[in-house]
Amino acid sequence: MAEADYDVVVAGAGNAALCAAIAARQAGARVLVLERAPAAELGGNSAFTAGAMRVPLKSIEQLLALAPQLADTAASVAFTSYDEAEFVEDIVRLSGNANDRKLVELIAANAFSTISWMAGFGVRFESQLERRGVKVGGRTYNPREAALRVIGQGKGLIDTLWQAAETLGVDFSYDTEAAGLIVEDDAVVGLTIRRGGRTQALRAGRIILACGGFEASPEMRARYLGPDWDLAKVRGSRFNTGLGLKMALAAGAAAYGNWSGAHAIAQDINAPAFGNDPATAELEGKDCYYLSIIVNRDGERFVDEGADFRVFTYSTQGHVIVRQPGSVAFEIFDAKTYGKLDHSYRIPQATSVKAETLRELAEQLGIKPEPFLETVRAFNAGVREDVPLDDAIRDGRGTVGVSPPKSNWAQKLDAPPYWGFPVTAGITFTYGGVRVDEHARVLTETLEPIPNLYAAGEMVGGIFFRNYPGSSGLVSGAVMGRIAGTAAARNHDR
Ligand SMILES: Cc1cc2nc3c(=O)[nH]c(=O)nc-3n(C[C@H](O)[C@H](O)[C@H](O)COP(=O)(O)OP(=O)(O)OC[C@H]3O[C@@H](n4cnc5c(N)ncnc54)[C@H](O)[C@@H]3O)c2cc1C
Repeated sequence: MAEADYDVVVAGAGNAALCAAIAARQAGARVLVLERAPAAELGGNSAFTAGAMRVPLKSIEQLLALAPQLADTAASVAFTSYDEAEFVEDIVRLSGNANDRKLVELIAANAFSTISWMAGFGVRFESQLERRGVKVGGRTYNPREAALRVIGQGKGLIDTLWQAAETLGVDFSYDTEAAGLIVEDDAVVGLTIRRGGRTQALRAGRIILACGGFEASPEMRARYLGPDWDLAKVRGSRFNTGLGLKMALAAGAAAYGNWSGAHAIAQDINAPAFGNDPATAELEGKDCYYLSIIVNRDGERFVDEGADFRVFTYSTQGHVIVRQPGSVAFEIFDAKTYGKLDHSYRIPQATSVKAETLRELAEQLGIKPEPFLETVRAFNAGVREDVPLDDAIRDGRGTVGVSPPKSNWAQKLDAPPYWGFPVTAGITFTYGGVRVDEHARVLTETLEPIPNLYAAGEMVGGIFFRNYPGSSGLVSGAVMGRIAGTAAARNHDR
C-alpha cells in the first residue's frame, strides 16, 4: 500500500468536500482531495445549484453583513427574521418528524457561523429576494424562501472554494475515483483508488467521504426509490452514483435515513438526461406549478398545486409526477397567471404549447380532451372567488368540492390564451445516507464510530425525509463538511 503524505484524504470535490478540505487544512492537516470527475467538471451537484442558502437570520443587519449590496434597496424589503428554531421546525415538519433532530439542530446552530466563515475566504453572497420574492404594493416579501444566494451561483461557489483550498495548500487528484475503504482491525486505514484504468491502495490517516448520493445511478434509483425512477432525469452531476455510500456500508457504516426518498422536482420534459450546463440546470425546473393546474395525460388533476409555498412543496413534485401515466404531467396556465411565471418558463429551450382554446391546448399536448375539459370545468366551479388572492401569504383561496383540492392561490382557468408545459420527474439528490455523530464520525449499527472515517454532505442520512425546505442542502453540507474537516484534522478518534 502506498504511503500517503496526507493526514486527511477527502473523497469528492463538491461543496461539503471542499468545506471539509479547507477546514482540515486550516486546522493544520495535510490534505488531499480525490475527485472522480475531470478537473473541468469538478464540483458535483454543488456546481449545478442556484447557490441559494437557507440560513437562520435574526435581523436585517445579519443579512446586510453577508449581502451588503442589499443596503440600496433594503427599504423596499419586508424582512422577517428567521431564527434557528424556525429553521429546525421547517425541516422537521416537512420530514414528518422523522429526522435525527440533533443533526438538524447542529446544522441550525452552526449555519450562520459557517456561512460567515465561508465569506471569510471569499464566498460572496447576495440577497435572493429579487429572484424569489413576491412583490405586493411596492414591497418585496419572501414567503419562507432562503434569503441568500452565492454570487456566481453554484459554479461561483465551487470556483471560490476550490481557489481557497488551493491557496491554503490542499492537493487535488482529478479523474480519481475512491473505490473502496481499507479496514484493518476495525479501523479505516486507507482507500482503494482508481485512476487511468489502474487501481491502487493508498494509506491515509483519516478519510472524509463527501461523494454525494446515488441520484445518478439508474440501478440504485430503481432499487431504492421504486419503479420508473430509473427513467427520471438527473438535474445535476453524472458522477454521484452511490459509490461513497457503498464503500461506507461495506466498511460497516450504518445505513440511515430515508433510502426510498429523494428530492425531485417538475422538470422540463426535454431537459437533458443529466445536468450538462451548470449555468442553465436550474432553469430546466418548472416550479411555478402553484399558479397552475397540473393534469396528467388522462386530463386528471392528481395533486394539490397550492398545498404550501413553492419552497415547501417543489421537491415532492417529482414523486407525484413519476407515478402518472408515462411519468408525464402538464402545468397549465392562462393569461392571468402566465405573466407571473419566472424566467425558467421563458428561456428558448423551455418546452411549451400555446393555444386559444383549452381543447386545442389538450390536443396539442396529447392530453385526452374530454376529461381535461371536465376537470377544468369542475375546478373553475370550485374556486373560492370570495377570498382575496395574495401570493405573499398562504391566502386560503382554495377550491370547494374538488378532489384533490387546491388549497391556496386558486384562480379559474378561463382567460385565453392558454399555455401548457409538459414536465417529468427531475431528481436532484437522494436522502438516504450513513449515520454520523456530532463530529461527523461515521457510526456502525451499534453506534460506535468507525475509527478514522467521517462523512459530510448528501452522504449523511437522517437529515431530510420525504420533503425538504428549499436551499437547505448547501448549508447542511457546508456545516457538516466544516465539522468533519476540523474533527478529522484533530484526529478526534484518539
Ligand atoms: C440543479 C440543482 C440545483 C440545486 N440548487 C440548490 C440550491 O440553490 N441550494 C441548495 O442548498 N441546494 C441546491 N441543490 C442541492 C445541492 O446540489 C446539494 O444539496 C449539494 O450540492 C450536495 O453537496 P455535496 O457536497 O454533498 O455533493 P456534490 O456537490 O454532489 O459533491 C459530490 C462530489 O463527489 C464526487 N464523487 C462521487 N463519487 C466519487 C468517488 N467514488 N470518488 C471521488 N469522488 C466522487 C463527485 O464528482 C462530486 O464532486 C441543487 C441541486 C441541483 C442538481
